[in-house]
Amino acid sequence: MNKHKLNELKQWMETNKVDCAYISDPGHIAYFSGFESDPHERVLALFIPLEAEPFLFAPALEVEDAQNSSWAYDVFGYLDSENPWKLIAEHLTKRFSGAPVTVAVEKGSLTVDRLEFMQEFFPNTDFSKDLTPLIQRLQLLKTEEEIKKLYDAGDWADVAFETGFKAIHEGATEQEIIAEIEYELKKRGVSQMSFATMVLAGKNAASPHGEPGLTKIQKHDLVLFDLGVIWNGYNSDATRTVAFKEPSEFDRKIHAITLEAQLAAQDFVRPGVTAAEVDKVARDVISSYGYGEYFNHRLGHGIGTTVHEWPSIVEGNDLVIEEGMCFSIEPGIYIPEKVGVRVEDCIHVTKTGCDSFTKTSKELLIFD
Ligand code: MN
Ligand code: MN
Repeated sequence: MNKHKLNELKQWMETNKVDCAYISDPGHIAYFSGFESDPHERVLALFIPLEAEPFLFAPALEVEDAQNSSWAYDVFGYLDSENPWKLIAEHLTKRFSGAPVTVAVEKGSLTVDRLEFMQEFFPNTDFSKDLTPLIQRLQLLKTEEEIKKLYDAGDWADVAFETGFKAIHEGATEQEIIAEIEYELKKRGVSQMSFATMVLAGKNAASPHGEPGLTKIQKHDLVLFDLGVIWNGYNSDATRTVAFKEPSEFDRKIHAITLEAQLAAQDFVRPGVTAAEVDKVARDVISSYGYGEYFNHRLGHGIGTTVHEWPSIVEGNDLVIEEGMCFSIEPGIYIPEKVGVRVEDCIHVTKTGCDSFTKTSKELLIFD
């Protein structure tokens, strides 16, 4: 449970005349409550009244786990045969001795049907206040404890790279290598990847969000690995592009430019520079070699209990970088039908610079 952040949330509620906050995103529920869960289609909710005790509302089968987490307040459950919205309404009515006047919701993630269920039970309540920008701001600056968890998640990404690199051999398919990586991590107790592990061989890597399949790794291919795990509720996300047998001069060059851009941006990061400036440092390197048009996404995104959060490291974002911010630096060059290279590390900003959560070499490793 993150008492400090719960207090900051309450201060915002007081200033904005909000009676109750309804946190619906499972990553954000974990952030405030310490209870990590993926409820799938079931309802998991955290209600924080300004003047009364907060409570978690969870599927009955998860109540015990929630009680055993660091969450120190009530946990109410519901059975699949029950109407969760009716029960939520009853609990809220008890807490408020009636209907809450203003309930702030996460407009960035709460589904319309769920909002409408709430409105059915509380037709006179104002649901117009948005928690999403506040939560984005709260999550911007990580505590020491959070940074430690991000290092641990990064260590697992390094294990994943090592495992994946060992699995490279002629004729191995992308999915076969993914299976090796995830099998090894799961044997060692990692229950969840941050996102679908990506291994893309040769031309397939030229699409920044390509789909791994049965493509076989061939001699002289570059192979792109983009992966991460969730560990203690915190995510890792890192990319390495390596070669199977000697790569072509051209592929070497594209990798070298991407790495130069990544390192230049990482060297540049320190408190006081802006997100847009960090993006520009990497982009300028790639553009100076004439490949600017092939770097077609932002430089990076924040990371924490969710794999993509604030800050966005992108042109036009004048946010000033501060100590404690955590984000990815991931330039890429994608030349359709030819080659795709991305190099990505997530970092945290220190007093004087930054440090990566992942330690695997970013040089062009060549495997035989
Ligand atoms: Mn990323
Ligand atoms: Mn990634």
